[in-house]
Amino acid sequence: MIYFAGIDIGSTAVKVVVIDEDRQIIGNKTVATGALVFKNAQTAFLALLNEIGLQRQHVSYLTTTGYGRKLFKDADETISEITANAVGAREAGKEFGTIRTIINIGGQDSKGISIDLLGNVTNFAMNDRCAAGTGRFLDMAARNLEIEVSDLGLFHFNAKSTPAAVNATCAVFAESEIIGLLGMGHEREEIVKGIHFSIAKRTIKLVKRVGIEDLIYFDGGPALNKGMVAALEDELGRRLVIPEFPQITTAFGAALIGLESHQYEQQEQQITEQTNAANAQSCQGSCSSCG
Ligand code: ADP
Repeated sequence: MIYFAGIDIGSTAVKVVVIDEDRQIIGNKTVATGALVFKNAQTAFLALLNEIGLQRQHVSYLTTTGYGRKLFKDADETISEITANAVGAREAGKEFGTIRTIINIGGQDSKGISIDLLGNVTNFAMNDRCAAGTGRFLDMAARNLEIEVSDLGLFHFNAKSTPAAVNATCAVFAESEIIGLLGMGHEREEIVKGIHFSIAKRTIKLVKRVGIEDLIYFDGGPALNKGMVAALEDELGRRLVIPEFPQITTAFGAALIGLESHQYEQQEQQITEQTNAANAQSCQGSCSSCG
């Protein structure tokens, strides 16, 4: 069996996925990107290999993606996160049908990606200028509300009254708005729900720029937050396809692209070897100097 690895070096988290030649995920790992980007990505990669009982030489092809992809010198190929996300979403979502739209919320950006029926990316829109509408906004809100990010979903569903209106269009103003809402006596649950709806509205506005077509796939770390999922579904009036491991879709896509590149290289090599063998044979048959 041979293996393929995809490493998505995101602004907030490094995601590593190893797949086998049957396109099955053998293992995955997520760690903080931190400041020592290459070191942290390399350590996570080797730690995952160790966990699943593999060594570096068992990985036939390594593909990196994400904002820090070029920092990883050991890669066979680097690929844009838009392409890797589309390939990963198509494969991870195929049990539900054909994915046509991806909503991706990352640590410091959010994206809408349009895919045609053949799986090609036809359009995308990205917000990487403003933290409002990204994972960083959720992280900041959780910190201010003294909640774990992984508990935001729980708080969303425990809200007893109307979600608090969070209007700030900038994460910096939102921080003081949250403090103001707490001061007015709003429950943290209502504020969390309000934040999810505010991000959902902002995200849908962005994704509408590329056109929204069924099936809609939601990924990135914030897709682990069921409250965020509910707010997006509520605002869209449609169900979303959420994979089992939404944060690793792009790394999975990178690994799949690696598998295909490797297969292509193998085929090319085979054709070259066959052509050389055929040339050598015809040369022997027709040229006396061949001996
Ligand atoms: P990037 O690729 O830009 O590094 P990710 O797609 O990895 O971003 O998403 C990172 C964000 O995911 C974090 O900022 C955080 O808000 C969110 N997140 C991570 N883990 C969880 C979790 N268990 N529950 C809810 N949200 C999470």
